[in-house]
Amino acid sequence: MNALAPRLDAARAEAPVGTPGGAPAVSLAAQVAADFPILTRRVRDKRLVYLDNAATTHKPEAVIEAERAFYRESNANIHRGVHWLSQHATDLYEGARERVQRFLNAARSEEIVFTRGTTEAINLVAWSWGRANLKPGDEILVTGMEHHSNIVPWQLVCEQTGAVLKAVPLTDRGELEPGAFEAMLGPRTRLAAIVHVSNALGTVNPVAAMIERAHAAGALVLVDGAQAVAHQAVDVQALGCDFYAFSGHKLYGPTGIGALYARHELLAAMPPWQGGGDMIRTVSFEGSTWADPPARFEAGTPNIAGGVGLAAAIDYVTGIGLPRIAAHEHALLEYATEAALRIPGLRLIGTAPGKTGILSFMVEGIHPHDLGTILDAEGVAIRAGHHCAMPVMTRFGIPGTARASLAIYNDERDIDALMAAIRGAQRMFGTGARP
Ligand code: PMP
Repeated sequence: MNALAPRLDAARAEAPVGTPGGAPAVSLAAQVAADFPILTRRVRDKRLVYLDNAATTHKPEAVIEAERAFYRESNANIHRGVHWLSQHATDLYEGARERVQRFLNAARSEEIVFTRGTTEAINLVAWSWGRANLKPGDEILVTGMEHHSNIVPWQLVCEQTGAVLKAVPLTDRGELEPGAFEAMLGPRTRLAAIVHVSNALGTVNPVAAMIERAHAAGALVLVDGAQAVAHQAVDVQALGCDFYAFSGHKLYGPTGIGALYARHELLAAMPPWQGGGDMIRTVSFEGSTWADPPARFEAGTPNIAGGVGLAAAIDYVTGIGLPRIAAHEHALLEYATEAALRIPGLRLIGTAPGKTGILSFMVEGIHPHDLGTILDAEGVAIRAGHHCAMPVMTRFGIPGTARASLAIYNDERDIDALMAAIRGAQRMFGTGARP
């Protein structure tokens, strides 16, 4: 008797993923595949089946070319130069900021601070806003499905300020325990720091409703959008969030660039968190004064080419259209979920009804790391481990999961290759036979 069978039946009943009426999964992938040069690469003498998109996505030619063109034709340092090339590079970088503003529908470009990515954006809020505003006994509320980058910065700032970190528990499907977020918001809650889409489970949180509840309780809200922006349209004004963080490299853009959106009145009142060039108004040995946002939070020479590449990635994604991307990925997730549930001994971790294209799973009798290595031999790239979300693994009582995560260029062939490789691993381990 397969001990996992009842759980699989439950998971089957609980996983109505997919967007009704979504576009056929192959069409978008077929259309965009040629845009991604790396996809023609053979890995271990096999076709590359890249299913590690939640870690980082590949880059289309348009992004690669934008960075290359910047260094070939426009390279100079920005903001301080009087010469033509410096002004030209500044225009490109500030133009990128406006692209991010429009992408998130922020009210003004000064609300966009460039960072190295989501991690740095959250650290910026923790060190600047957190240290200035948190007092002993104040509370920061996160969810039980946060990435470490939305836990550890708050723990560090709690150590310094005496504030307390609390986490909303999860259900067996990997959703927030109903009513728990509201119940845990209290008069001491100063900030709710919540993940939009879980990288370990794929769960999409109802952030708009959570923001409303948090505001009603007098708390600010930071949203970690690392796994959201490439998969669904985000409108920070419609959401009403106070802070929104994302990374360019999970959005088909370069590594080392991302952004923090913050409401202007908050940014204007926040102190600097790093000192150096570009963030000051005046400097003397008696003391210094600060530039207005966003410059106040961008000390030193930034990743200028990265900003230009990120703008190209945003143009690429918006050119396709996020609703179309979401429909493609939902249809493919539905296909993958159905295929996964046909494999005996496979247990899905994360079966919330609202999910993006993340399939986290365990295969009975095979450690996720062994599975990852065996799949790699077939050219199938997945992630294995805790996915920087150790509290999620603790909640489910597991060491880690195998995770396949989808992007625009994935299609049914990739899912078929994944499932065939999993069945191959089961044959190798002598597991997976039907009872
Ligand atoms: N939050 C979530 C939900 C993530 O998935 C990740 C990346 N795995 C991060 C934050 C951190 O992003 P980065 O490493 O690009 O700063």
